[in-house]
Amino acid sequence: MAAICPVCSLEGLPGERFCEECGTPLGATLCASCGAGAVDADGYCGRCGVRQPTGRDHAEIELTAGAVRVAGVSDRGLRHSHNEDAMALTVTAVPAGPYAAVPAGTGDPVAGPAGWQGGRDAFPPPAAGGTPGGAGHAVVGVVCDGVSTSPRPEEASQTAADTAAAVLAERLAAGADAVAATYQAVAAAAGAVAGLADSLFDAPACTLVSAVVDPRHVTVGWVGDSRAYWLSGPGSALLTQDDAGPGHVLTAWLGADAGEVVPHVRSFAPEGPGVVLVCSDGLWNYYPDPLALAQAVPDAAADPLAAARTLVELALQAGGRDNITVLVIPFTGRR
Ligand SMILES: [Zn+2]
Ligand SMILES: [Zn+2]
Repeated sequence: MAAICPVCSLEGLPGERFCEECGTPLGATLCASCGAGAVDADGYCGRCGVRQPTGRDHAEIELTAGAVRVAGVSDRGLRHSHNEDAMALTVTAVPAGPYAAVPAGTGDPVAGPAGWQGGRDAFPPPAAGGTPGGAGHAVVGVVCDGVSTSPRPEEASQTAADTAAAVLAERLAAGADAVAATYQAVAAAAGAVAGLADSLFDAPACTLVSAVVDPRHVTVGWVGDSRAYWLSGPGSALLTQDDAGPGHVLTAWLGADAGEVVPHVRSFAPEGPGVVLVCSDGLWNYYPDPLALAQAVPDAAADPLAAARTLVELALQAGGRDNITVLVIPFTGRR
């Protein structure tokens, strides 16, 4: 089969690898920006030099968890050339079983919605013969934001999100409680990101926030300033507390230069339906207020993908200065 040159439309001879007329590699992809240059192996246009969009520039996920849909949207934003955010969203079947208490001495008290129990003893000790966690589906959502001053931030965030989600899904399916699984998942993600570094001075880094929404509980874990919110009308609340100092400077992250990583883990048993929103600072820098977020997507439980798209669009309209990632996970209590 003879190939047609994508640039000058000359038909090449069978077996030719380059256009005889203009030298363009035959079978090359054309630039999404100028429409006339061939894209090289590294993703750059040979004519105008623009880096081609990748799957991460705008990505969407939608899954079904029992009778409930869950969704995520990640977008490069308007000012960054790469999307250094990463997301992972999975659904796993979980067995019924008692939940263990949180290891003592972890976490600090934090304000939260009704039913919230932060830090120590996140779950009451299971009553004899009781099964606080019912069988059903657990949704696992993870958002990681690559630290743009570190090398290969997009690799750090993808590695962390994939690792944490895989460990959470595996542990939950095996019957582990969500709090213990979250500690294990963050530790595994921290190790994987640290393993990307060539040296302490060349250490890829990222934030991490995870949410597990199971039939009875919402459990969040985080390192850094990516956030989780509980959206439920006037009961809406921020579930996380940023690891950040004055001027937005991160005080904790995942990476070989991070020292010992101690995640915050919080869990609560919602008293009614709501939506867990997991996001990077590309959204909350513009919309930090839980109530404003809830009001922006009143139908989030019914159509999570539409809600995630709406929130990303709001951040873009507000300036889109950073990468934006949003996961929307409804809680019904009946998965
Ligand atoms: Zn040609
Ligand atoms: Zn081009």
